[in-house]
Amino acid sequence: MSKVAFIGLGNMGEPMAANLIKAGHDLVVFDLVAAPQERLKKQGAKIASSALNSIQDVDFVISMLPAGKHVEGLYLGESALFNNISKNTIIIDCSTIDVATTKKLSTEAEKVGLNIVDAPVSGGVAGATAGTLSFMVGATEENFYNVKELLANMGKNIFHAGDAGAGQMAKACNNMLLGIMMAGTSEALQLGIANGLDPKKLSEIMLNSSGRNWTLEVYNPCPDVQENVPSSNDYEGGFALDLMLKDMNLALQASLESKSSTPLGSLSRSLYAQHSNIGNGHKDFSNIFNQFSKN
Ligand code: NAD
Repeated sequence: MSKVAFIGLGNMGEPMAANLIKAGHDLVVFDLVAAPQERLKKQGAKIASSALNSIQDVDFVISMLPAGKHVEGLYLGESALFNNISKNTIIIDCSTIDVATTKKLSTEAEKVGLNIVDAPVSGGVAGATAGTLSFMVGATEENFYNVKELLANMGKNIFHAGDAGAGQMAKACNNMLLGIMMAGTSEALQLGIANGLDPKKLSEIMLNSSGRNWTLEVYNPCPDVQENVPSSNDYEGGFALDLMLKDMNLALQASLESKSSTPLGSLSRSLYAQHSNIGNGHKDFSNIFNQFSKN
């Protein structure tokens, strides 16, 4: 069993850390917010008083933070963990961040003899809770081998996407597609509702027809069609719309750098931006459904 420092205990980090405890690992946890730390303490974790105090004598440091600026701040900026992490520790950043920051972290880590891998995830809060996440890992062969077993305690698909940054690139492609699918599914459901269809019936029909997709399967954006999804809980919990907007921006940035044509991604990004600008950024991203409402 390994000793793990887990930093960032939000919607995703808390259930991921809980699964590592369940698997028998020794967890030291840290977040800027007290409540998830206390809940994990009841399950057996130790609470660190700071990020710096969490990393002493651990085999792995896992970070699950909102965006690139938080991750850079943790390792290179105000917390400067790179100056204090032992050379035997492997750092796993599971946050979804930009490829440029990921590559910068990898270069800086190499300079001081540290090992870092990017391992963003897919599967949402439900997948994090059930331990069925997909991990997209950017790492050397050796580092991938060294982290695979630990990640398998939190996910069921552990993919080696390529070298440093490849995990983040795969994640940007996946979430651009997810953003497009959620917007498209919302548009189709609202069209049906406006023309007198029952959204439950329509969802069932599309789920068993060629419109089938992940959002219809497990994340229906229309309230009260499915139980235990954010749309049936006033769009609370889940994946914040502003985080989806961040991911669509990451995909757009990559498309600009590679001169790729991503018209559907660009249009969907604008829809999420518009929906955030009218005050919905903190709600679950499936709230984009209301962008297409006639009311
Ligand atoms: P969240 O906002 O719920 O959680 C982030 C946590 O990080 C918060 O608890 C915050 O207090 C903490 N934090 C921020 N800065 C910190 C610091 N310097 N030190 C310690 N803690 C700090 O976000 P989330 O939904 O858990 O998402 C985390 C990451 O995972 C994001 O990059 C997101 O894009 C990605 N992601 C989220 C989902 C999802 O469904 N929510 C799915 C896949 C990937």
